[in-house]
Amino acid sequence: MNNQHPESVTTTCSYCGVGCGIVVNKDKKGNITVEGDRNHPVNKGMLCSKGMNLHYTVNDKSDRLFYPQMRYNRNMPLQRVSWDEALDRTAAVFKTFIDKYGPDSVAFYVSGQCLTEEYYVINKLIKGFIGSNNIDTNSRLCMSSAVVGYKMSLGEDSVPGCYDDIELADCLFFTGANPAWCHPVLWRRVEAHKAANPNVKIIVADPRRTDTCSIADVHLQLNPGTDITLNHAIGRLLIENGDVDLDFVKNHAEGFEQYKKIVFQRTLAEAAEICGVDEITIKLAAQHIGNAKGFMSFWTMGLNQSAVGVNKNLSLINLNLITGHIGKPGSGPFSLTGQPNAMGGREVGGLANMLPAHRNLANAAHRAEVAQFWGGTTINPKPGLTATEMFDALNDGRLKAIWIICTNPLVSLPNVRVAEEGLKKAKFVVVQEMSNRPETLKYADVILPAATWTEKEGTMTNSERRISYLNKIVDAPGEALPDAEIICRFAEKMGYHGFDYKDASAIYDEHAKLTEGTNIDISGLNYSTIKNRRTVQWPFPKGETGQGTARLFTDKKFYTPSAKAIIHPVPDDLTSEKPDGDFPFILTTGRIRDQWHTMSKTGKVNKLKQHISQAFLEIHPEDARRLHIKDGDITIVNSRRGEVQVKASVSNTIKKGVVFLPMHWGKILNNDLNRANNVTSPMLDPLSKEPDFKYCAVQVAAY
Ligand code: SF4
Repeated sequence: MNNQHPESVTTTCSYCGVGCGIVVNKDKKGNITVEGDRNHPVNKGMLCSKGMNLHYTVNDKSDRLFYPQMRYNRNMPLQRVSWDEALDRTAAVFKTFIDKYGPDSVAFYVSGQCLTEEYYVINKLIKGFIGSNNIDTNSRLCMSSAVVGYKMSLGEDSVPGCYDDIELADCLFFTGANPAWCHPVLWRRVEAHKAANPNVKIIVADPRRTDTCSIADVHLQLNPGTDITLNHAIGRLLIENGDVDLDFVKNHAEGFEQYKKIVFQRTLAEAAEICGVDEITIKLAAQHIGNAKGFMSFWTMGLNQSAVGVNKNLSLINLNLITGHIGKPGSGPFSLTGQPNAMGGREVGGLANMLPAHRNLANAAHRAEVAQFWGGTTINPKPGLTATEMFDALNDGRLKAIWIICTNPLVSLPNVRVAEEGLKKAKFVVVQEMSNRPETLKYADVILPAATWTEKEGTMTNSERRISYLNKIVDAPGEALPDAEIICRFAEKMGYHGFDYKDASAIYDEHAKLTEGTNIDISGLNYSTIKNRRTVQWPFPKGETGQGTARLFTDKKFYTPSAKAIIHPVPDDLTSEKPDGDFPFILTTGRIRDQWHTMSKTGKVNKLKQHISQAFLEIHPEDARRLHIKDGDITIVNSRRGEVQVKASVSNTIKKGVVFLPMHWGKILNNDLNRANNVTSPMLDPLSKEPDFKYCAVQVAAY
């Protein structure tokens, strides 16, 4: 407690994967304000615009859901019911579908904003008791290509380094990422490092000249989708320049000879032509990487959200592997997670093809081990439906019921009209939400009001494997309950045992026990150890002291069968929908600085609208002139799937032939023509099942 505020409690920001520490000050009326936690190792007191305004989303109850609601058919209005009525009916409907059509007729679609404990109980419920693997998360839309990339190259879904490596690196490569807007506090650390050490080199690869380019020594303004060709060209130059760590590739990696063959298939001139970047700029980037004593590569959706997202990941990780820049201070490949707990969800196995503690669903021994631990039913070996597959299955009738928790798929899914049709056809839709803003509520048969940030306790893991505890600071309004409690109450209505936890810490203890002996062992952690240390980086096995494990692979032993990292010689083919005469532009989508996801929270904070208040189409001046479009004019963007109408933002920050739409908007009045996903492509990466949000063919016209 301090003198200024009746109560001050530490917690963690609930937006991006940077995971900034926050001090919440609560007044006597229960209203809160926030400030950056100066003692937190990640942000050292800093917060970005979104974090600084988080308290408004809690204090403002105008959009909150206060009590359960239900209806017996879609023509009836939703009516207030008790928790028992809502959960009894939901359990009865689920039981009927499971008995009649089998366990795969129901599904849970959850969120990278769920706390680890929430993810854990939902995953346990569906995989261990219902007997289906139909749980997936909106993290599928942002991180699954990185997960597969890490597993294929390092043998485990694990970020090797930590944020403190930023200040130890002398070359930082940001590709397919705009951290200046999307991971702002992390970016401030990069800016400060560069300001203090002007010789530190910053390389950015992006088809748009974003704010991240403001301190870049090299901007590789590549054509969309050509990342693999670019990374291979850099790899070739590193080999030619003698900048390969021969000891590392010989003794600690596999696949270098095959890699050499593939990167030498294209000349630098060919690669430069394909990428739309001149040879000198690519050479300069390779030179900076080659000269570095500490080299870090950072990426996010620009690589992941692609029909070849896994190959893009592998081509980048290869640059760290061939130069031996991994497992040592100031080095490593580093995927930046967009969501606060995308990592925690993976740790408990909350995806359609995973089991807890990164165990594999395909591994019979892993299935038996988890089934025995949970004491429910046998775990089904068949992978569940992934995010977009769930909505396809609602459309064709394979899936009867879907339970959507803390996510807004009618704005965030690609080719979103398919998802909308799926919800129309669904026999039963449960929406578990804090806010009345998500579009999904229109299709809900049951609405369950959920507690939000500061109204419940639990843990999250940020991008650098750092686990932090989030305090319950205020009471949830009305009858809203923590998500984990809702799921446990439902499990008991279904007649399942093993969900009568005394509190969230008991769920955490069970999760931690299940990690024992795995690569992500946190069996030495419980709420008291985390609270005492404020944050801890996994692994943290029994007997561990200190703050956990800052860096993995310091012994150069990887989690692959040979203990060597694998350099994958991936092809540079792009399978995305190509532009043609009818749809001549390439559309890419992304985020803006002050909004978060589908704006359920940030959209109600007036201060956050001051930066950019409405959706827009970024287009190059020459393209705009040719189409008789002036800045601010309404444009019509069409693809083979649908239409968007938004104002033009004419700017030479984007390449000719490429246009950009922000992904946040979904509805203005009763019109959803500002929704980018009306037009995006349904294509997925075949391995990660991550959608191709960053590349599809569109036509653009003046309204
Ligand atoms: Fe929150 Fe991310 Fe901003 Fe930090 S950088 S305050 S975690 S949104």
